[in-house]
Amino acid sequence: ILLSSVAATEAVEYVKYKDPSKPIGERIDDLLSRMTIAEKIGQMSQIERANASSAVIQKYFVGSVLSGGGSVPSDNATARDWQQMVTKMQKAALKTRLGIPIIYGIDAVHGHNNVINATIFPHNIALGATRDLNVVKQVGQATAHEARATGIPYTFAPCVAVCRDPRWGRCYESYSEDTRLVQRMTSAVVPGLQGEPPARHPKGTPFVAGQMNVAGCAKHFVGDGGTRRGVNENNTVINFHDLMRIHMPPYDDAVIKGIASVMISYSSWNGVKMHQNRFLVTDMLKNKMKFRGFVITDWQAVDRITSPPHQHYYHSIQETIHAGIDMVMIPYDYPEFVADLTAQVSNGTIKIDRVNDAVSRILRVKFAMGLFENPLPDPRLLGELGSKDHREIAREAVRKSLVLLKNGKPGQKPVLPLAKKAKKILVAGSHAHNLGFQCGGWTKSWQGQGGNNITTEGIKTAVDKATVIDYSDHPDNSSIAKTAGEYDYAIVVVGEPPYAETAGDNQNLTIPSPGPEVIKDVCGLVKCVVILVSGRPLVVEPYIGAMDAFVAAWLPGTEGHGVADVLFGDYGFTGKLLRTWFKSVDQLPMNIGDRRYDPLFPFGFGLTTQKLN
Ligand code: BGC
Repeated sequence: ILLSSVAATEAVEYVKYKDPSKPIGERIDDLLSRMTIAEKIGQMSQIERANASSAVIQKYFVGSVLSGGGSVPSDNATARDWQQMVTKMQKAALKTRLGIPIIYGIDAVHGHNNVINATIFPHNIALGATRDLNVVKQVGQATAHEARATGIPYTFAPCVAVCRDPRWGRCYESYSEDTRLVQRMTSAVVPGLQGEPPARHPKGTPFVAGQMNVAGCAKHFVGDGGTRRGVNENNTVINFHDLMRIHMPPYDDAVIKGIASVMISYSSWNGVKMHQNRFLVTDMLKNKMKFRGFVITDWQAVDRITSPPHQHYYHSIQETIHAGIDMVMIPYDYPEFVADLTAQVSNGTIKIDRVNDAVSRILRVKFAMGLFENPLPDPRLLGELGSKDHREIAREAVRKSLVLLKNGKPGQKPVLPLAKKAKKILVAGSHAHNLGFQCGGWTKSWQGQGGNNITTEGIKTAVDKATVIDYSDHPDNSSIAKTAGEYDYAIVVVGEPPYAETAGDNQNLTIPSPGPEVIKDVCGLVKCVVILVSGRPLVVEPYIGAMDAFVAAWLPGTEGHGVADVLFGDYGFTGKLLRTWFKSVDQLPMNIGDRRYDPLFPFGFGLTTQKLN
């Protein structure tokens, strides 16, 4: 047996790109020299999961597959189901002539949010309020572990947008309106996801430490958070100096930390779609900032360069590739994409050098992260999904993210922390008992999931066993009037329903009904703590006078117990506003540093409380 296996090894031809002891540059060159145009274009293609049959992967030499908007293999897919799906795709890719593994990508943007039983961390807006780089790094790490539990090595995160206008439907994906704060968060979360690069790591070279880490993607390049009136995918009108000063710096931090990929924004800069902007994508990001990972389009973005969409697809492909895009999130029309790109490479409209650059960058990431050596999901990681440790990290992040904006009416004693020993308390409002609302968008589906499918028990667990809790979505005024005297206090939890992207754009930013009515009804009669669950500051000025205490809880995710930990004094309030809290929408956009700055609560504001023993 020994002899024959030696003979078999000898018969295998030495293939340099498969040799992990060789420098990555040499492996790339070797592999590239063996590839046909079809294989190269395949590497540049990212297609939607549902279409990625083994036959398609092999026919088109597909380089990447994605779960667009969190598309799932089945409604209740377990980590094992996900691993099986990825394994099947990977095996198909490995059977191709050169055996180049696919890289599977998903939007794990606040934990592995498409997967049932995953730990859902607070959204970025909440993480910005923690100011805690260590926690943010741990959130990144835990997210990476949970993605790997399902066999997925690549996430379209972090969003490093600097949201300058809360009317934007993606504002909750942004850590702050303040560039410096987004930079600090970026420097923490990227090494969390990808692993910490060594001190002398060359700037721009993708770095993914190992099988517990994932490749990250800084998005959406650049100026996504600066569109006029916060309209999603719109035009960011700003001079070059301000673009560089406000929106660009976080990309530099991501590049320094070895970010594997950068996603281009649907938005335009001064009327030019970012997907066509060779100056910013190639001259700035790739050349000046030295980014050597790959640049990916947003979902169907090539189609959207023209209006109406997909009108001049052939040309759009040309402009996008010329601008410096390396991987195209197609995600459905790959036969057309492949045909069009192939034609343009053959007729010389698109230079083969540009294609080689694109493919080299994609291969660089795949080599750097060890995909060639470890292409298959690791069943030993299944238990990472929703683990106790990860839930504890999420709960800590929740505690640290709460911002206390009011604590007691003028001249009165602070209301928080609340007494655990109470006879009877009232819990009111649609958001007190709704996990879908607490998680927000990009949870189970990109638009999030409302519904009382699961309840959070934080308050119940925290208070004394003997305390009676009355819960009502929207108690009517006359019934509270009768019983008001019985309550020690009320906790009112209101806010926004889940949303994502354009569906979340909102020009008036009022608290959705019946939130304001519940606040008015309850706070007029019972001492009340109002907790706002939302993806951004909302108009609260008309009601704040009636509240005894007011807490911004953002979108805390599944570990809502963290809210009760702080309300009842097991921990103190420490969170600080990561954005300016405006009085009225007429003031928008209004950001820290603006000349006319007249907020309800300024950037950085946040009251503290002491931890009770
Ligand atoms: C979003 C991206 C996301 C992509 C894939 C797009 O609609 O803009 O942020 O990564 O979908 O789901």
